[in-house]
Amino acid sequence: MKTSLITIAYIAASALFILSLGGLSKQETARRGNWYGIGGMLIALAATVAAMEPSGYITLAAVLIPGALIGAAVASRVQMTSMPQLVAILHSFVGLAAVLVGFGTYEAAFAGPPPTEGVGILLVEIFIGVCIGAVTFTGSVIAFAKLQGSISGRPLLLPGRHLINMAMLAATIVLGVLFVMSPGNSGHPYLLAATIVTFILGAHFVMAIGGADMPVVVSMLNSYSGWAAAAAGFMLSNDLLIITGALVGSSGAILSYIMCRGMNRSFVSVMLGGFGTEGGTVASADGLPAGEVSSIDAESTALLLQQAKRIVIVPGYGLAVAQAQHSLAEVVKILKDGGTEVKFAIHPVAGRLPGHMNVLLAEANIPYDIVFEMEEVNDDFTGTDVSWVIGANDIVNPSALDDPASPIAGMPVLHVWEARDTIVMKRSMASGYAGVDNPLFYKENTQMLFGDAKKVVDEILTAMRS
Ligand code: NDP
Repeated sequence: MKTSLITIAYIAASALFILSLGGLSKQETARRGNWYGIGGMLIALAATVAAMEPSGYITLAAVLIPGALIGAAVASRVQMTSMPQLVAILHSFVGLAAVLVGFGTYEAAFAGPPPTEGVGILLVEIFIGVCIGAVTFTGSVIAFAKLQGSISGRPLLLPGRHLINMAMLAATIVLGVLFVMSPGNSGHPYLLAATIVTFILGAHFVMAIGGADMPVVVSMLNSYSGWAAAAAGFMLSNDLLIITGALVGSSGAILSYIMCRGMNRSFVSVMLGGFGTEGGTVASADGLPAGEVSSIDAESTALLLQQAKRIVIVPGYGLAVAQAQHSLAEVVKILKDGGTEVKFAIHPVAGRLPGHMNVLLAEANIPYDIVFEMEEVNDDFTGTDVSWVIGANDIVNPSALDDPASPIAGMPVLHVWEARDTIVMKRSMASGYAGVDNPLFYKENTQMLFGDAKKVVDEILTAMRS
């Protein structure tokens, strides 16, 4: 009876996780999707507790309660702009958990009388789980450090790095064969050696990817963490963990594919790393302009915007840093009430997290029907009076199209310069995430509006109201 109830609970939780993913795919249903996910997780937790022997409750409480408290405290304090780092470090926990579960399962399997059936399969599960977990762990820690700025975001390109990766991969396979063939639990040294090799492999892999390719790394590690969880599910014979892991793994893989398409990169070329290392005009370190720029003030911008019939707003990472979305929503309302057509153009890698800009705009209750993906809106700039770039840089950099040597060459960008006038709002001439100069700032029809986005949008709002 108890087993059937637990199975039913697992099926219900799995269904809720699938509904959650479906809900999260659209802004209108994202809130509902979150509730489905929370419901699924509560059912999963309750079923797991019910399935346990009561003797394990104290241990469970000792890890669950502090873990939940720390998680709640960190999540409630994290800034939206630091979300990618938090996601990366959470992925590393999943990876480390898979490694520990692997070692624990190996110990437990041979603690009593040696198992007679399915030993080979169990050893393969343990080995794969530990290796995926180890790559996820160190890869995520390096991604965290890069996103946090603790280490350089530039790709580290060791000479012969592909050979080094191939050698580590081959060594892991050989160690795997030796581990599975070891009698009893004598395979410890092989498992330990493979863990160390895959720790290094994960770190080296992510060290070699950098610059504008980081979004793909984040979504790829998301996928790895899912497969690591699924592997842990196999080791623990927990069907729900297998299903949840597979859902995260496959949705992360699909997201990586979408991000690659957004960057116009093949998945393999991103994985091989090396973009963002050479070529292109690197922005001057002192932030001084590399050409003539013309600037504009908030009052003149307000006037220009109010005289325009069609405006396309391009939000970027700086909008999130400044938290200017609420003031911006008020400006948009005034413009729309005055009969201006206003659209938002969202680049797939704008900000620092997939969907970062959509979340910000939804937070400020910007109507969904004026928010467009890059492909939907990129041809509209030609008939636009003002393209208004707020805290964006790499995603509107024309050198991605014009300069084959640029580290972001080939990445599709928003063609803001095709509008009659372009206003670029940022604090200085500093570069964006990819660290390259932006020729957009020196174009004849571009005017720079310098300042913190929140402060400047507030000034525009005041000017419009008066
Ligand atoms: P960028 O990082 O290219 O540019 C953001 C600009 O915002 C900066 O140049 C900065 O200029 C400006 N800025 C920062 N703070 C403020 C502020 N308070 N007020 C006004 N402006 C401000 O961001 P984009 O969104 O254009 O492009 C995203 C980049 O991040 C891409 O290279 C992408 O590959 C990368 N990335 C994306 C991820 C994702 O999943 N979306 C994940 C990891 C990386 P200044 O200092 O002069 O103000």
